[in-house]
Amino acid sequence: MSLHFFLDDPTHGLTLDRRKTHRHIQRSIALSSHNIPPKDLLTEHKEAFRIIHERGPVCVLTGAGVSVDSGIPTFRGTDGLWRQYPPSLFGHTPGLIFTFACFPKWFQSFLRDTIKTFVQATPNDTHTLLATLEQQGLLSGIITQNVDQLHQDAGSQHVVEVHGNFFRSVCKTCKRQDTLSKDALRAFLNELEGQPLGRIKLFKKLKQDLFTCPSCGGARRPDMVFFGDPLDTSTWQEAICLVKHNKVMLVLGTSATVYPVAELPHIAREAGATLIEINPTPTALTPFVDLYIPDTSSRALRLLVDDERHC
Ligand SMILES: [Zn+2]
Repeated sequence: MSLHFFLDDPTHGLTLDRRKTHRHIQRSIALSSHNIPPKDLLTEHKEAFRIIHERGPVCVLTGAGVSVDSGIPTFRGTDGLWRQYPPSLFGHTPGLIFTFACFPKWFQSFLRDTIKTFVQATPNDTHTLLATLEQQGLLSGIITQNVDQLHQDAGSQHVVEVHGNFFRSVCKTCKRQDTLSKDALRAFLNELEGQPLGRIKLFKKLKQDLFTCPSCGGARRPDMVFFGDPLDTSTWQEAICLVKHNKVMLVLGTSATVYPVAELPHIAREAGATLIEINPTPTALTPFVDLYIPDTSSRALRLLVDDERHC
């Protein structure tokens, strides 16, 4: 065996299992980068089907990737909101207050683009197929990092929203929660579409239409987790409970890098669950999963839902 072999072999020094994983990832990267369907993809789908039927029901962790087909680009993607509206200003409450005070036109654009994106979005195949898996008794709950409510719109019953919900607001004083209808937000959006309202008019509009509690008159805020905010304790406990009480976890459309949510697959693994990841490209989680399916979530789920293909 020549020295040349070792120098060319990026897996040299890894254990056999890690070598397999590494080669699997490299192969997946090569396949996905050339957009060629892997020849043995069906084998991986069949394996996932077998695991889910033998060890299920599953719990599912979803991220921004599952809503891209609904018209919501990932925040950090090339079309993402963070390109135009940097998270250093728009991702946390003090930054939003600062932007509103100093750059009201920019703030109004952010508000308009954000509301438009979420109001126009409708569930895609992934949301619908996950709801079908739940109806079939193969899925016990979804933990989502998304705030778009599309899982519920598709019919999913048990959804744990660890980062909150864009359409829900909570009163800071009496803790009353309200859900804003898409129609109400569309009406608000119409007023943002024209000329800039100016700081005072915009403030009055926001206070009157969105941010005043109908019960106590106190200020309310979107029920979402911004950068630097802690997660809601009871929601997080519900997510942990779901993870620990299922023998299979399916991870979809997330790069698994945002903590503490990125810990959930590892908690599942430590509790003895089988991890299945579906993602067109490998992620930081891929080396740790039991089965990686390099595919879009909609195509892979369709094959999982369709019993006849597995007969
Ligand atoms: Zn209140």
